[in-house]
Amino acid sequence: MSSNNSVMVFIQQDNGKVADVSIELLSKARDLADQLKVTVTGTLIGNNIKGEAEKLIQYGADEIFIIEDKRLHDYTPIPYTKIMVDVIKKTKPQIALYGATTTGRDIGPRIASALKVGLTADCTSLEIGDYESKGTEYTNILYQIRPAFGGNIVATIVSPEKKPQMATVREGVMKVGDANPDYKGKITPMTVELSDADFPSVVIKKIKEEKLVDLKGSQIIVSGGMGVGSKENFKLIKELAHVLGGEVGASRAAVDSGFIAKDHQVGQTGTTVRPKLYIACGISGQIQHRAGMDESARIIAINSDNEAPIFQIAHYGIVGDLNDVIPRFIKAFKAKN
Ligand code: FAD
Repeated sequence: MSSNNSVMVFIQQDNGKVADVSIELLSKARDLADQLKVTVTGTLIGNNIKGEAEKLIQYGADEIFIIEDKRLHDYTPIPYTKIMVDVIKKTKPQIALYGATTTGRDIGPRIASALKVGLTADCTSLEIGDYESKGTEYTNILYQIRPAFGGNIVATIVSPEKKPQMATVREGVMKVGDANPDYKGKITPMTVELSDADFPSVVIKKIKEEKLVDLKGSQIIVSGGMGVGSKENFKLIKELAHVLGGEVGASRAAVDSGFIAKDHQVGQTGTTVRPKLYIACGISGQIQHRAGMDESARIIAINSDNEAPIFQIAHYGIVGDLNDVIPRFIKAFKAKN
C-alpha cells in the first residue's frame, strides 16, 4: 500500500455504538483529505460492528477497516494498541486522529510511543499548511492547534518529520458534516494475530454513570456565572432555561463555587457546545469559557459591566443586573406562549 495517501480516524465504539466524536473527526478528516487530495479511512475495532461501519461511509469515509473478535467487544489497551499499530504500519496514513476521550487519551500515546511519532493532545482546531525549519521546507503538513499555558495562548504544533502526524481532538469542537447516503466507500475486514497473551486484562463489570445533563445535544443553553451570586439564585438560570426548553450551563467559577454541578460546565475544561442560542448570564467571558461556546449561532450576554469581554463575541448584549433582566425575559416569553 502506498504511503501518505490517507487521513485515518480511530473509530471509537462503546458497547458496539460509534462515539459521536468519531463522526465529528470523520467529517474533519474529509475536509483535510480534500485539501491534501488523499482518502479518508477509519479503523473500527470491536465485535459484530459491521453495521456501525456501514453507517460511517455517509460521512465521507472512503474505506473503513474493521477488526472483529468477541474478545474485542470492550476497549482494553494492549490488543487495541497492537491492532492500531499494525493497521497504521500496513496502510501508512499521513495523519491519524483520535477523540480526546478517556479511550483516545489512553490509546493515542501508546500508539505514538510504539511508532515513535509525535502526538498533540486536546486539539481544538486542525489545519493544513506549510512549515520551514533549518532550511527544510515542509508542505501540506498538519497544524495541530490547541490552547496552551492555561488557555492564555493558542499554540500551533507541528510534527513534520515523521508520519503519521497524530492528534487527539476535543469532543464537540469539529462540526459534523451533512450525511450523504450516496457516498461510496468500502468496508475492509482485516486480521491481526492476537494470542491470549495480548489480553492480560478483562473487563469484569461496567458501571455507567447516567448523564443528567445533555449540553452537547441542546440547541438552547442558558449559562450562569459568578454574577449569579449563589446556588440559590441559580434557580433564575434554571427557570429561564426551562421556559425556553433549553439546558443549563455554567462557568467554571460558578461550578468551583458550588453553585451547580461540574456536568454543567462549559469551556476549555468543560464541554464544548455550539447551540443555536447561548445566553450567558453574569459571565465575564474569559478565554477559557469562550473556547467552549464561541461557535454558538447566536449569543446573548447579560452583564452589569459594559466592558465585560463577553460583549466582544455576543450578538446581542444587555448591560444590566441579571436579577432584573432574567425575570423580564421569563415574563415576556411566557406572555408570548
Ligand atoms: P467572573 O470572571 O468573576 O465574572 C463574573 C461576571 O459577572 C462579571 O463580568 C461581572 O460583571 C458579572 N456580574 C456580577 N454581578 C452581576 C449581576 N448582578 N448581573 C449581571 N452581571 C453580573 N472557565 C470556564 O468557564 N470554563 C472552563 O472550562 C474553564 N477552564 C479553565 C481552564 C484553565 C486551565 C484555567 C486557568 C481557567 C479556566 N476557566 C474556565 C476559568 C476562567 O479563566 C474564568 O475564571 C471563569 O470563566 C470566570 O467565570 P465567570 O465569568 O463566571 O466569573
